[in-house]
Amino acid sequence: MSLFTLKDFHITNKKVLVRVDFNVPLNEKGLVLNDSRIRKSLDTLNYLIKHKARIILMSHLGRPKGKVIPKLKMNKVAERLSEILKKDVMKFHDTVGPGMVKNTHKLAAGDIMLLENLRFYEEETKDSKAFAKELASLADFYVNDAFGASHRAHSSVHAITRYIPGCAGPLLEKEINTLTLLLQEPKKPFIVILGGAKVSDKIGVINNLLKKADKILIGGAMMYTFLKAKGLDTGLSKVEDDQLKLAKKLLKNKKIILPTDCIIADRFDEDAKADSVKVEHIESNWLGLDIGPQTIKDFKKIIKEASTVFWNGPMGVFEFKKFAKGTDEIAKAVAASKAKTIIGGGESVEALEKLKLDHKIDHVSTGGGAALEFLEGKTLPAIEALEDSYKRFKDEI
Ligand code: AMP
Repeated sequence: MSLFTLKDFHITNKKVLVRVDFNVPLNEKGLVLNDSRIRKSLDTLNYLIKHKARIILMSHLGRPKGKVIPKLKMNKVAERLSEILKKDVMKFHDTVGPGMVKNTHKLAAGDIMLLENLRFYEEETKDSKAFAKELASLADFYVNDAFGASHRAHSSVHAITRYIPGCAGPLLEKEINTLTLLLQEPKKPFIVILGGAKVSDKIGVINNLLKKADKILIGGAMMYTFLKAKGLDTGLSKVEDDQLKLAKKLLKNKKIILPTDCIIADRFDEDAKADSVKVEHIESNWLGLDIGPQTIKDFKKIIKEASTVFWNGPMGVFEFKKFAKGTDEIAKAVAASKAKTIIGGGESVEALEKLKLDHKIDHVSTGGGAALEFLEGKTLPAIEALEDSYKRFKDEI
């Protein structure tokens, strides 16, 4: 894969347009609830500041679907970034247009401005070339540092790379390098842990990682589809009946390890009555909401012996304290492991952050969906676009 990286560009005094992922969670008042996505971009921003680039940042925030939603303006994000960097962040009320081109002239070397929410324009998600061209007209170089948006063919990560030279930012580079390692030469034993809501979301990953992994440990609601495929009574547990045939086929592969016990509940509720049972003994009008103590023990032993661990998806309904133990214990085991540990974004990250263990992980992916698609072996549209940009502009740089 040939891509430009930031080091290929002479950025001093040049306008550099950076696609960041500042899609942070907000509260009802529009205040930033968790700024970890902003903080993740700091190394990139400090590099650009140090090299005296004129920095233009752009991101989407929420799902405004092509309309201006006041609560989804980037103002609070700009304020938070400014507090963290202890530096002014210019914020204007638009994203593209002649006025914005003029505004970019106000940037001195090392200055930063943040554009308005990209998704206030419906063109963004349509991968509009005209919109991408307008974005590109703001700058000399383009940097994609938003792995979490890179599985989408949207203007700000896809169409844009045809108009100005575009590179993979440091965050994106790290994602590509780390995840590629899993697909090529993971140090063995390579253990994959998958949980979460749906088998259908993870089938592609299971199929592709089975080629390299030594074991795939299954938890979360997914496990019940596999257990039913084995012929067990799963009661009222969440099962995807249309995936049973596929699950049965996958189970022929002995690398797939299922839980031997689980925590069942008499209803889907924080305060439900709970019981720990072997998977053969799930009561017909109860539902499984977590892995059981024996499974935790067995999974922990396997994780302890691993040299590479990839984890995506909670082991149970970890939002309910009573059913969070499986996820918490797996999080602790992964954090304590000496293996190279990689977390595939999403809810597993939340579980780790809650336990303040995220800093013990070698690589926490910034994109759940993007990481899964990458590990399925798909070429992500935004990465493909950067490869095209390299081919298009390599003789000009
Ligand atoms: P995902 O986004 O696919 O990683 O799914 C995460 C969601 O799966 C979380 O909100 C969990 O509550 C849910 N989940 C995990 N285990 C179960 C289960 N046994 N039954 C129902 N939902 C579950």
